[in-house]
Amino acid sequence: MDHQLIQRAAEDILNSKKTIAFTGAGISVESGIPDFRGAQGLWQKYDPEEYAHIHAFYSNPDRVWLMLKDMFSLIMTAKPNPAHMGLAELERMGYLSSVITQNVDGLHQAAGSRNVIEFHGTHRTLSCLKCSTTIDGTSLKMEDLPPRCSRCSSLLKPDIVFFGESIPWEAQVLSFKESKSCSVVLSIGTSAVVYPAASIPMTAKERGAIVIEINMEPTPLTDQISDYLISGSAGEIIPAIVDQVKRSSKPR
Ligand code: NAD
Ligand code: ZN
Repeated sequence: MDHQLIQRAAEDILNSKKTIAFTGAGISVESGIPDFRGAQGLWQKYDPEEYAHIHAFYSNPDRVWLMLKDMFSLIMTAKPNPAHMGLAELERMGYLSSVITQNVDGLHQAAGSRNVIEFHGTHRTLSCLKCSTTIDGTSLKMEDLPPRCSRCSSLLKPDIVFFGESIPWEAQVLSFKESKSCSVVLSIGTSAVVYPAASIPMTAKERGAIVIEINMEPTPLTDQISDYLISGSAGEIIPAIVDQVKRSSKPR
Protein backbone atom coordinates (compact mmCIF):
# COMPACT_ATOMS: atom_id res chain seq x y z
CA MET A 1 0.00 0.00 0.00
CA ASP A 2 1.33 3.42 -0.99
CA HIS A 3 1.20 5.57 2.15
CA GLN A 4 1.88 8.79 0.30
CA LEU A 5 -1.15 8.20 -1.88
CA ILE A 6 -3.26 7.32 1.18
CA GLN A 7 -2.27 10.65 2.68
CA ARG A 8 -2.96 12.46 -0.59
CA ALA A 9 -6.44 10.89 -0.78
CA ALA A 10 -7.17 11.90 2.83
CA GLU A 11 -6.13 15.48 2.07
CA ASP A 12 -8.21 15.60 -1.10
CA ILE A 13 -11.22 14.41 0.93
CA LEU A 14 -10.59 16.93 3.71
CA ASN A 15 -10.32 19.78 1.18
CA SER A 16 -13.32 18.67 -0.86
CA LYS A 17 -16.68 20.43 -0.75
CA LYS A 18 -18.42 17.21 -1.67
CA THR A 19 -17.10 13.66 -2.07
CA ILE A 20 -18.93 10.69 -3.55
CA ALA A 21 -18.03 7.01 -3.89
CA PHE A 22 -18.72 5.00 -7.03
CA THR A 23 -18.43 1.29 -6.30
CA GLY A 24 -18.44 -1.95 -8.26
CA ALA A 25 -18.28 -5.67 -7.70
CA GLY A 26 -14.64 -5.47 -6.53
CA ILE A 27 -15.64 -3.90 -3.21
CA SER A 28 -17.65 -7.02 -2.33
CA VAL A 29 -15.01 -9.58 -3.34
CA GLU A 30 -13.61 -9.58 0.20
CA SER A 31 -17.14 -10.37 1.42
CA GLY A 32 -17.04 -13.55 -0.65
CA ILE A 33 -19.02 -12.39 -3.69
CA PRO A 34 -16.94 -12.84 -6.85
CA ASP A 35 -16.71 -9.98 -9.35
CA PHE A 36 -17.41 -10.48 -13.05
CA ARG A 37 -14.00 -10.03 -14.49
CA GLY A 38 -11.99 -11.77 -11.79
CA ALA A 39 -11.15 -15.42 -12.26
CA GLN A 40 -13.32 -16.88 -9.50
CA GLY A 41 -15.91 -19.62 -9.57
CA LEU A 42 -19.37 -18.28 -10.29
CA TRP A 43 -18.71 -16.53 -13.59
CA GLN A 44 -16.57 -19.35 -14.90
CA LYS A 45 -19.67 -21.46 -14.65
CA TYR A 46 -22.08 -18.85 -16.01
CA ASP A 47 -20.96 -16.43 -18.70
CA PRO A 48 -22.49 -13.14 -17.49
CA GLU A 49 -22.93 -11.81 -21.03
CA GLU A 50 -25.14 -14.79 -21.69
CA TYR A 51 -26.88 -15.37 -18.37
CA ALA A 52 -27.26 -11.76 -17.29
CA HIS A 53 -28.95 -10.59 -20.48
CA ILE A 54 -32.65 -9.80 -20.31
CA HIS A 55 -33.27 -11.85 -23.47
CA ALA A 56 -31.90 -14.90 -21.67
CA PHE A 57 -34.43 -14.33 -18.90
CA TYR A 58 -37.30 -13.99 -21.36
CA SER A 59 -36.32 -17.05 -23.38
CA ASN A 60 -35.26 -19.36 -20.56
CA PRO A 61 -36.01 -18.09 -17.04
CA ASP A 62 -35.45 -21.53 -15.49
CA ARG A 63 -31.91 -21.61 -16.76
CA VAL A 64 -31.16 -18.06 -15.62
CA TRP A 65 -32.55 -18.88 -12.19
CA LEU A 66 -29.84 -21.58 -11.78
CA MET A 67 -27.29 -18.75 -11.89
CA LEU A 68 -29.44 -16.46 -9.72
CA LYS A 69 -29.80 -19.14 -7.04
CA ASP A 70 -26.02 -19.55 -6.83
CA MET A 71 -25.60 -15.78 -6.69
CA PHE A 72 -28.35 -15.33 -4.08
CA SER A 73 -26.87 -18.01 -1.83
CA LEU A 74 -23.63 -15.98 -1.75
CA ILE A 75 -25.38 -12.62 -1.29
CA MET A 76 -27.71 -13.82 1.47
CA THR A 77 -24.86 -14.98 3.71
CA ALA A 78 -22.37 -12.22 2.84
CA LYS A 79 -21.37 -9.64 5.45
CA PRO A 80 -19.99 -6.14 4.83
CA ASN A 81 -16.18 -5.96 4.87
CA PRO A 82 -13.87 -3.17 6.13
CA ALA A 83 -14.23 -1.28 2.82
CA HIS A 84 -18.03 -1.02 3.19
CA MET A 85 -17.62 -0.14 6.89
CA GLY A 86 -15.04 2.53 6.09
CA LEU A 87 -17.35 4.30 3.61
CA ALA A 88 -20.19 4.22 6.16
CA GLU A 89 -17.88 5.80 8.72
CA LEU A 90 -16.76 8.48 6.27
CA GLU A 91 -20.42 9.39 5.71
CA ARG A 92 -21.10 9.54 9.48
CA MET A 93 -18.09 11.82 9.90
CA GLY A 94 -19.58 14.16 7.28
CA TYR A 95 -16.96 13.50 4.60
CA LEU A 96 -19.00 11.44 2.13
CA SER A 97 -22.18 12.62 0.46
CA SER A 98 -23.33 9.39 -1.17
CA VAL A 99 -22.40 5.96 -2.41
CA ILE A 100 -23.44 5.19 -5.99
CA THR A 101 -23.14 1.44 -6.35
CA GLN A 102 -23.39 -0.92 -9.29
CA ASN A 103 -23.77 -3.76 -6.80
CA VAL A 104 -27.08 -5.39 -5.97
CA ASP A 105 -25.95 -7.07 -2.74
CA GLY A 106 -27.12 -4.42 -0.23
CA LEU A 107 -23.80 -4.56 1.66
CA HIS A 108 -23.35 -0.77 1.80
CA GLN A 109 -26.66 -0.42 3.64
CA ALA A 110 -25.76 -3.39 5.88
CA ALA A 111 -22.55 -1.55 6.80
CA GLY A 112 -24.56 1.54 7.82
CA SER A 113 -24.29 3.78 4.75
CA ARG A 114 -27.48 5.84 4.51
CA ASN A 115 -27.34 7.64 1.19
CA VAL A 116 -26.90 4.70 -1.19
CA ILE A 117 -27.97 4.96 -4.83
CA GLU A 118 -28.40 1.52 -6.39
CA PHE A 119 -27.63 2.11 -10.06
CA HIS A 120 -28.23 -1.49 -11.08
CA GLY A 121 -31.17 -2.22 -8.80
CA THR A 122 -31.42 -4.61 -5.88
CA HIS A 123 -31.87 -8.29 -5.10
CA ARG A 124 -34.30 -7.41 -2.28
CA THR A 125 -37.44 -7.15 -4.41
CA LEU A 126 -38.64 -9.29 -7.32
CA SER A 127 -41.11 -8.50 -10.07
CA CYS A 128 -43.23 -10.34 -12.59
CA LEU A 129 -42.38 -9.40 -16.18
CA LYS A 130 -45.87 -10.42 -17.33
CA CYS A 131 -48.21 -8.67 -14.87
CA SER A 132 -45.86 -6.34 -12.90
CA THR A 133 -46.65 -7.86 -9.48
CA THR A 134 -43.77 -7.08 -7.09
CA ILE A 135 -42.85 -8.96 -3.92
CA ASP A 136 -40.46 -8.39 -1.04
CA GLY A 137 -37.67 -10.92 -1.34
CA THR A 138 -35.99 -10.32 2.02
CA SER A 139 -37.86 -13.07 3.84
CA LEU A 140 -37.50 -15.64 1.05
CA LYS A 141 -35.53 -18.76 1.95
CA MET A 142 -33.24 -20.54 -0.47
CA GLU A 143 -35.81 -23.35 -0.74
CA ASP A 144 -38.43 -20.79 -1.93
CA LEU A 145 -36.28 -19.97 -4.97
CA PRO A 146 -37.18 -19.47 -7.75
CA PRO A 147 -40.41 -17.78 -6.61
CA ARG A 148 -43.47 -17.65 -8.83
CA CYS A 149 -45.95 -14.82 -9.29
CA SER A 150 -49.01 -15.26 -7.05
CA ARG A 151 -51.25 -13.76 -9.77
CA CYS A 152 -50.08 -15.37 -13.02
CA SER A 153 -47.54 -17.97 -11.79
CA SER A 154 -44.72 -16.85 -14.12
CA LEU A 155 -41.20 -16.94 -12.72
CA LEU A 156 -40.37 -13.66 -10.98
CA LYS A 157 -37.25 -11.70 -11.87
CA PRO A 158 -35.18 -9.97 -9.18
CA ASP A 159 -35.20 -6.17 -9.61
CA ILE A 160 -31.56 -6.16 -10.67
CA VAL A 161 -30.72 -4.51 -13.97
CA PHE A 162 -29.89 -7.13 -16.57
CA PHE A 163 -27.84 -6.28 -19.66
CA GLY A 164 -30.31 -4.84 -22.17
CA GLU A 165 -32.53 -3.27 -19.47
CA SER A 166 -32.70 0.40 -18.61
CA ILE A 167 -31.37 1.98 -15.42
CA PRO A 168 -34.01 2.78 -12.76
CA TRP A 169 -35.00 6.37 -13.52
CA GLU A 170 -34.63 7.81 -10.03
CA ALA A 171 -31.20 6.22 -9.52
CA GLN A 172 -30.02 7.62 -12.82
CA VAL A 173 -31.22 11.16 -12.05
CA LEU A 174 -29.82 11.16 -8.52
CA SER A 175 -26.46 9.70 -9.60
CA PHE A 176 -25.82 12.27 -12.27
CA LYS A 177 -26.90 15.05 -9.93
CA GLU A 178 -24.29 13.81 -7.46
CA SER A 179 -21.58 13.39 -10.09
CA LYS A 180 -22.15 16.87 -11.50
CA SER A 181 -21.94 18.53 -8.11
CA CYS A 182 -19.05 16.74 -6.42
CA SER A 183 -15.41 17.75 -6.18
CA VAL A 184 -13.94 14.28 -5.42
CA VAL A 185 -14.98 10.83 -6.67
CA LEU A 186 -13.65 7.65 -5.12
CA SER A 187 -14.01 5.00 -7.85
CA ILE A 188 -13.66 1.69 -6.03
CA GLY A 189 -13.49 -1.89 -7.32
CA THR A 190 -15.04 -1.29 -10.72
CA SER A 191 -13.61 -2.16 -14.11
CA ALA A 192 -15.61 0.84 -15.41
CA VAL A 193 -16.56 -0.81 -18.69
CA VAL A 194 -20.33 -1.11 -18.13
CA TYR A 195 -22.24 1.92 -19.45
CA PRO A 196 -23.96 4.20 -18.57
CA ALA A 197 -22.56 3.52 -15.07
CA ALA A 198 -18.99 4.25 -16.15
CA SER A 199 -19.98 7.73 -17.28
CA ILE A 200 -20.57 8.75 -13.63
CA PRO A 201 -16.86 9.38 -12.86
CA MET A 202 -16.43 10.77 -16.40
CA THR A 203 -19.17 13.36 -15.82
CA ALA A 204 -17.59 14.37 -12.52
CA LYS A 205 -14.19 14.76 -14.18
CA GLU A 206 -15.64 16.96 -16.94
CA ARG A 207 -16.86 19.29 -14.20
CA GLY A 208 -13.42 19.46 -12.65
CA ALA A 209 -13.65 16.82 -9.91
CA ILE A 210 -10.63 14.84 -8.71
CA VAL A 211 -10.97 11.13 -9.55
CA ILE A 212 -9.27 8.77 -7.11
CA GLU A 213 -9.26 5.14 -8.18
CA ILE A 214 -8.94 2.27 -5.73
CA ASN A 215 -8.51 -1.01 -7.54
CA MET A 216 -6.38 -4.13 -7.71
CA GLU A 217 -5.33 -3.19 -11.25
CA PRO A 218 -5.50 -0.34 -13.76
CA THR A 219 -8.79 0.16 -15.65
CA PRO A 220 -9.77 2.25 -18.70
CA LEU A 221 -10.30 5.16 -16.24
CA THR A 222 -6.70 5.03 -15.05
CA ASP A 223 -5.09 6.60 -18.11
CA GLN A 224 -8.11 8.57 -19.27
CA ILE A 225 -9.40 10.44 -16.25
CA SER A 226 -8.03 9.22 -12.91
CA ASP A 227 -5.85 11.69 -11.05
CA TYR A 228 -4.21 8.69 -9.37
CA LEU A 229 -4.74 4.99 -8.73
CA ILE A 230 -4.18 3.47 -5.31
CA SER A 231 -3.45 -0.15 -6.17
CA GLY A 232 -4.51 -2.88 -3.78
CA SER A 233 -7.51 -4.27 -1.99
CA ALA A 234 -10.36 -1.95 -1.05
CA GLY A 235 -10.63 -3.69 2.35
CA GLU A 236 -7.16 -2.43 3.26
CA ILE A 237 -7.05 0.89 1.46
CA ILE A 238 -10.41 2.42 2.51
CA PRO A 239 -9.86 1.90 6.27
CA ALA A 240 -6.34 3.35 5.88
CA ILE A 241 -7.77 6.47 4.20
CA VAL A 242 -10.45 6.80 6.89
CA ASP A 243 -7.78 6.57 9.63
CA GLN A 244 -5.72 9.23 7.89
CA VAL A 245 -8.76 11.52 7.52
CA LYS A 246 -9.40 11.14 11.26
CA ARG A 247 -5.79 11.90 12.15
CA SER A 248 -5.49 14.91 9.85
CA SER A 249 -8.88 16.40 10.75
CA LYS A 250 -8.02 16.61 14.47
CA PRO A 251 -7.28 20.14 15.64
CA ARG A 252 -3.54 20.52 16.10
P1 NAD B 1 -16.13 -6.04 -12.57
O1 NAD B 1 -16.14 -7.46 -12.16
O2 NAD B 1 -16.18 -5.71 -14.02
O3 NAD B 1 -14.80 -5.35 -12.03
C1 NAD B 1 -14.39 -5.49 -10.69
C2 NAD B 1 -13.11 -4.67 -10.50
O4 NAD B 1 -12.76 -4.74 -9.12
C3 NAD B 1 -11.92 -5.20 -11.29
O5 NAD B 1 -11.27 -4.10 -11.92
C4 NAD B 1 -11.02 -5.82 -10.22
O6 NAD B 1 -9.63 -5.67 -10.50
C5 NAD B 1 -11.39 -5.03 -8.99
N1 NAD B 1 -11.21 -5.74 -7.72
C6 NAD B 1 -11.38 -7.07 -7.45
N2 NAD B 1 -11.20 -7.32 -6.15
C7 NAD B 1 -10.91 -6.13 -5.57
C8 NAD B 1 -10.60 -5.74 -4.22
N3 NAD B 1 -10.57 -6.62 -3.22
N4 NAD B 1 -10.34 -4.42 -3.99
C9 NAD B 1 -10.36 -3.51 -5.01
N5 NAD B 1 -10.64 -3.83 -6.29
C10 NAD B 1 -10.92 -5.11 -6.57
O7 NAD B 1 -17.29 -5.31 -11.78
P2 NAD B 1 -18.14 -4.01 -12.13
O8 NAD B 1 -17.27 -2.96 -12.72
O9 NAD B 1 -18.90 -3.71 -10.91
O10 NAD B 1 -19.11 -4.48 -13.31
C11 NAD B 1 -19.83 -5.70 -13.23
C12 NAD B 1 -21.34 -5.59 -13.23
O11 NAD B 1 -21.92 -6.75 -12.58
C13 NAD B 1 -21.82 -4.46 -12.35
O12 NAD B 1 -23.07 -4.07 -12.76
C14 NAD B 1 -21.87 -5.16 -11.01
O13 NAD B 1 -22.63 -4.50 -10.07
C15 NAD B 1 -22.49 -6.50 -11.33
N6 NAD B 1 -22.07 -7.48 -10.28
C16 NAD B 1 -22.49 -7.23 -9.00
C17 NAD B 1 -22.06 -8.03 -7.95
C18 NAD B 1 -22.51 -7.68 -6.54
O14 NAD B 1 -23.61 -7.14 -6.35
N7 NAD B 1 -21.68 -7.90 -5.53
C19 NAD B 1 -21.21 -9.13 -8.21
C20 NAD B 1 -20.83 -9.37 -9.55
C21 NAD B 1 -21.26 -8.51 -10.59
ZN1 ZN C 1 -47.47 -12.18 -12.78
